[in-house]
Amino acid sequence: MKIPFFNYPFLFKSSEEELINIFKDVCERGAYILQKDVINFENNLKTFLDVKHVISVANGTDALLLALRAAGIKQGDAVILPSHTYIATAASVQLLGAKPILADCQEDHMLDPESVLEKLKKHDNVKAIMPVQVNGRTCDMDKLCAIAQDNQLLIIEDAAQGLGSKFKGRCAGTFGLAGTFSFYPAKTLGCLGDGGAVVTNNDYVAEQIRLLRDHGRNEQGEVVLWGFNSRLDNLQAAILDYKLQFLHRDIARRREIASLYYNGLHKLKDLDLPPPPSENSDHFDAFQNYEIKANHRDELRTFLLSRGISTLIQWGGTPVHQFTRLGFDEHLPKTDALFQRCMMLPMNVSLTDQEVAYIVESIQKFYVNQMVLEKV
Ligand SMILES: *Cc1c(COP(=O)(O)O)cnc(C)c1O
Repeated sequence: MKIPFFNYPFLFKSSEEELINIFKDVCERGAYILQKDVINFENNLKTFLDVKHVISVANGTDALLLALRAAGIKQGDAVILPSHTYIATAASVQLLGAKPILADCQEDHMLDPESVLEKLKKHDNVKAIMPVQVNGRTCDMDKLCAIAQDNQLLIIEDAAQGLGSKFKGRCAGTFGLAGTFSFYPAKTLGCLGDGGAVVTNNDYVAEQIRLLRDHGRNEQGEVVLWGFNSRLDNLQAAILDYKLQFLHRDIARRREIASLYYNGLHKLKDLDLPPPPSENSDHFDAFQNYEIKANHRDELRTFLLSRGISTLIQWGGTPVHQFTRLGFDEHLPKTDALFQRCMMLPMNVSLTDQEVAYIVESIQKFYVNQMVLEKV
């Protein structure tokens, strides 16, 4: 059996006929830039998230940059974010002339509110916190929002991995002044290329982002500020609008796979697993990723690969603060410890129950072998 970490051709093959019809429809209408497909997708995503505004943009990184810019983050400001994130989160802060301050994570891999408080004591000019809803789980937003309120800070959520996840019934991306999403193919709602969105309940921020994504031009075509070209491709919007109809089903399937992993693996002492999906938890997890911790990680990965199973370590194995050439010198012991042990098992809707069973069985087999090895 061969199980890729992510099955890219499946994105097309699983709904080939529908996608070809969408391509024909959009192209026959000559509807390439900011047409009704963009508007429809934005409206449907608004309903899905229960948020006032959705502004689609070219990708998840632009979404971060535009959201921070619209929030007024500028030269001299500082922004606190977790080190366990994609470089794009930190880069969006840095590229606006502000300073990214990296914080530690907690046992569940999410931004640690205690670490945020520590960083706040050490740094002046902190204007915002960027919780990253990594792996399709939402941070403890009660604690982070309380810290933000007490210290008059903005919350800008990087929910690139958090689409459909909830904390106490509220969708990731909708807690702060603005939240951002990515529709990179491997994301929970992936298109056939790049895509992203900013969501907000704030009319001013929404208006600013609509201007920023289209050269600063208003509806009359008058340029009212310096902007970018960061429009979501209309064809991708049409594809996303089609796929959005199945997002609840897809998330339910991801949760099913997470349960299969949990049931098959939670007794193994060497592993730490994400909390299993549960109906009576503050967290509704969407399982963008299934990120586990393993003491014998590197040997386990090699063994799985020998059985045709590809795994990944997130961010190529390097959390942001370990990119010392970018000038970081933060001491983040929990993130360092996490990256000694973390790895991701395949998690996407192309996986069959048999494939998941094969992965579980292979991991169990590894540990049986491992015990024998250790005893000898
Ligand atoms: C994917 C991702 C991004 C960037 O999204 P792009 O669409 O690839 O630009 C940002 N932050 C996190 C946490 C991500 O996982």
